[in-house]
This record gives sequence, C-alpha cells and structure tokens, in this order.
Amino acid sequence: MDEKKEELFYQPKNGYDLIGPEERIACEDYCREYMAYLDAARTEREAVTEAVKLAERAGFAPLEENAGPIQPGQKVYWNNRGKSLLLAVGGKKPMSEGFVVEAAHVDSPRLDLKQNPLYEDSELAYLRTHYYGGIKKYQWTAIPLEIHGVVALTDGSTVEVVIGRDKDDPQLVITDLLPHLAQNQMEKTMAKGIEGEKLCLLAGSVPYAGEGADRVKLAVMSILNERFGIREEDFISAELEAVPAFDVRELGLDRSLIGGYGQDDRVCAFAELAAILRTEAPERTAVCILADKEEIGSVGVSGMCGQRFEWFIEQLCGGQCSVQQSFSKSLCLSADVTVALDPMFPEVTERQNTARLNYGVGFCKFTGSRGKSGANDASAELVGRMRRMCADGGVVWQMCELGKVDQGGGGTVAGFMADRDIETIDAGVPVLSMHAPFETTSKFDCYMTYKLMKTAYSWKN
Ligand code: MN
Ligand code: MN
Repeated sequence: MDEKKEELFYQPKNGYDLIGPEERIACEDYCREYMAYLDAARTEREAVTEAVKLAERAGFAPLEENAGPIQPGQKVYWNNRGKSLLLAVGGKKPMSEGFVVEAAHVDSPRLDLKQNPLYEDSELAYLRTHYYGGIKKYQWTAIPLEIHGVVALTDGSTVEVVIGRDKDDPQLVITDLLPHLAQNQMEKTMAKGIEGEKLCLLAGSVPYAGEGADRVKLAVMSILNERFGIREEDFISAELEAVPAFDVRELGLDRSLIGGYGQDDRVCAFAELAAILRTEAPERTAVCILADKEEIGSVGVSGMCGQRFEWFIEQLCGGQCSVQQSFSKSLCLSADVTVALDPMFPEVTERQNTARLNYGVGFCKFTGSRGKSGANDASAELVGRMRRMCADGGVVWQMCELGKVDQGGGGTVAGFMADRDIETIDAGVPVLSMHAPFETTSKFDCYMTYKLMKTAYSWKN
C-alpha cells in the first residue's frame, strides 16, 4: 500500500530531506549576501541604490534611449526616479518571441512622516506620522526606529537623511502605555488599542535656551537645521520614513531562519536581482523589476500600474516588434512573499494548501480575497509549465494559498502584469509575521526562491 501511496499521492517533503551538503553551503552563501542587502536597504530608495551598485559591478549599464533592439548578452538597467528599477539581459531570441520578467517590490510597510510633522506637547517634541501599507499599529510602539529619506529643497537640490543607522547615532521611539495603567486600553480591540494619530515619534526633550512656547520643538528643529540644513517648511517636500532599527539576524538555535525588517518583499527582490546579475545571454531576454508602491496598490509613476515598464520594453524591442506582441509571448513570475503556516495561529490557514517553512518557494495560482476577488488566477497550463520548469531546475517548491477562504487575503503585482497580456504566476518566499517590524523567513526557502528565479531566466522551454 505504501508503494501505491508513493505512486499516487502528492506528498510535499521537507526541503532539508531533499538537498545534499553542497547545496546547503550554496544556501548559506546566498543567504549571507541577501542578509547584507536587506541590512543596507531599509527603504525603496535604498533598495534601488544598493541594487544599482550591484548591477554596475556585474557589468550592467544605464539603458541608452532609442539605441535599437537589445543585443544578446547586453546588460542594461533603468533607474526610475530612484524608487524603482528595471534591468534586462538580452536574450538570443528577439523580443518578438517574448521575454521572461520577474517582478518584485521594494517598498515595505512603514511610518511616513506627515508633511507638517513636528510639534511640542508637555515640553516633549514629536514627529507625526501617517502609516504606509497594512500594519498592526500596536507593533510599532516601544521599538527602536530610524528615519530614512529625502528632503527636496526649493532650489531643486535634495538632502539625504539617515538618522539612527550608525551605532552611535540616536534613534526614535513611539511610546506605549504601561500595563499598570492600561486597563481601558487592554479592553479595546487590537485595531483600536493604538490609533493612527498616536503613532508619533518622540524626537527630543531639551528646551532651547530662553523663554516662551515651543522651546523643545525649536531645539529639535535647530538640530535638524545644523545637521541637514533644513527648516520646518522643508518637511512639506520631504519623504521621510520611520523604519524599524533592528539589525538583520540569523534566528533559531540552528541558525536556519532570517529575521529582519522589510523582507516583504525585498527577499524576493534580492532573489531575482541576484539571479539576473548571474544570467549571461539567456534564451529569451531576462527582465527584472524592483517596483515601488505595491503596498498601497501599485499606484503612481514608480508603481506597477505606471507606464515606465511599457516604455522600457519598447526600448528593448527597439522597433523590431510591438510591445503588445512581445507581452503576449512573455512569462512573468510575480515574485512576492506568501503566508507561512504558523503553528501559533493555525486557525487562519488551511493546512493542506498553506506554505510551510523549509518546503521551498511557494507558488500561488491565485491570490485575492472573498472568492478570489482581485486575484490573478494563473492558468492550469502555466502551472503545468512551472512544475516542469522546477523539475528541470531542481527547484524545491510548494503550491499554496494566502489563508483560509473566508479569512481575508491579499494581492500582488500579478494582476497588473496579467492585465498587460503577460502570462503571470505568483511565486515567492513564505513568511512568518508578515508586515511586522521584524519578519521571519527560512534560509532554505530564500535560497530556493533564488534558484527558481535563476532557473526561470535560463529555462529553454
Ligand atoms: Mn509583498
Ligand atoms: Mn506586503
């Protein structure tokens, strides 16, 4: 009977039972690189800047406009306003045969400073924030935070701001109530326990010498002025993001897990980036997208609903075929994270169809919520191709969905890629504590996601 089961049943296996010592070393090597990237890339802008550095080191050059079709083996990139990045390696086949695109996002949930953020209350200075993306607000109190971003000045120059990253640089915090006095707070729902307007960063406490109101605010403003040359009005044209100050660390006594902020979706962004940086003259042109604004609906000029991608593909086609023709023959891996089965919260997932840590890269045929609404639903034929590709590439993978049918759900850029007539499927790393200030992934799954991304670029079918 066991033989019959082996023959007929679908039985996913723990990845560590499927790989040998050599691959374990490759996994460790890859994860070390990834952790360094994640540590350096705390915002979408930094993720792009770091990616450009790595790309240039690997021989990529800025795309020249109207330079004709991309040549086999040619490596180009386009930095879209410092917030999203498009890369390509020319394939042996022309763009009329389509291309392989892998699309991840590099923006993550965070607290954006408001456009007029600084105020004083009870001789303490605060910075008001407006959260970005889906967060559980209570998780952002009483943890160390840093500020990263830019301030655009009226003379056209831009000031880069990083506060709290260096070891001896001060950090910021949002305070929470002591349990002794939290009786009322504790009776509220978790959604209401900490409210959006209460997510204010404690920014200082020493008053400016002299008399009058707002002396602490003035002292903080003068520190910012000294350090960055800005005045209060300059906040209006700033993008300053408060992000968790945790270092990226190995987790678990066996060091098998990775903990860090912003793994959704920099874990997949780095996987496809590392893959394209090691891709030489693939069969079909390889395209890598690090997109912005996914967490708020892929909006704007740096999000996947924007038109920069069409323009980029038009440049790669170089007049040889239409963008639409190229799209229709192309394949997209929407590289985004998925939920991992959490034994602490098994009730929100259906075990048989949920990704498990160390079972490899998770494919989602569909995402969405309430009856697949808002999903990209990949075709059976495409899923079949992916099964063949993973088998060819030795990729350990699993099929999964995002939570129980009636529990909720979520979306990725997949739908926006498919809207363009590109065959698209979601594939990415299963995550624990997704969207928390400190997210957990498994090294094995990170590595297998990289391996999938590498295989997809070079696959000959
Ligand atoms: Mn994501
Ligand atoms: Mn997300």
